[in-house]
Amino acid sequence: MGTFDIAQICLNGHVITEMAGGHPEYRKQFCTECGEQTIMACQNCNTNIKGYHHVPGVIGIFDYHKPKYCEKCGKAFPWTDRQLNAAKELIELTDNLNNDEKLELQSSITDLVKGGPQTVVAQAKYKKYIGKAGSEVAKGVRDILVDVVSETVKKAIWGQ
Ligand SMILES: [Zn+2]
Ligand SMILES: [Zn+2]
Repeated sequence: MGTFDIAQICLNGHVITEMAGGHPEYRKQFCTECGEQTIMACQNCNTNIKGYHHVPGVIGIFDYHKPKYCEKCGKAFPWTDRQLNAAKELIELTDNLNNDEKLELQSSITDLVKGGPQTVVAQAKYKKYIGKAGSEVAKGVRDILVDVVSETVKKAIWGQ
């Protein structure tokens, strides 16, 4: 029921408006939080990014969650890519893990963000290596992931 508006989001993931279609006056060419360019469609397949869900006769507070991946082509949106890359770069910085361990930890992060059947394995790997990576890296990775992983994953890896 109802129709979806179009969201406008900056490349770093700041949501400019969930109603860029219905309210063009809310649109911004650049993000006022970080100065990045904004998009309203997937840069790979040009499908509009879903925004506010308009349901006839229903007025309510709508908690908007920006998508991580394009619903049409499955490609990660730029903000998802950037967060994953930032987490991976942080892991590169540690001297406490060897290269294989770094790769395991990095791939676990990709799986944690995606969800799906690999999540449980990814949680185990993440917990195994993140402690070894050192508290500074662990904290940085956590700050990044907290914005991108599901509540279930948060509970599993941080117990909150
Ligand atoms: Zn921004
Ligand atoms: Zn797409």
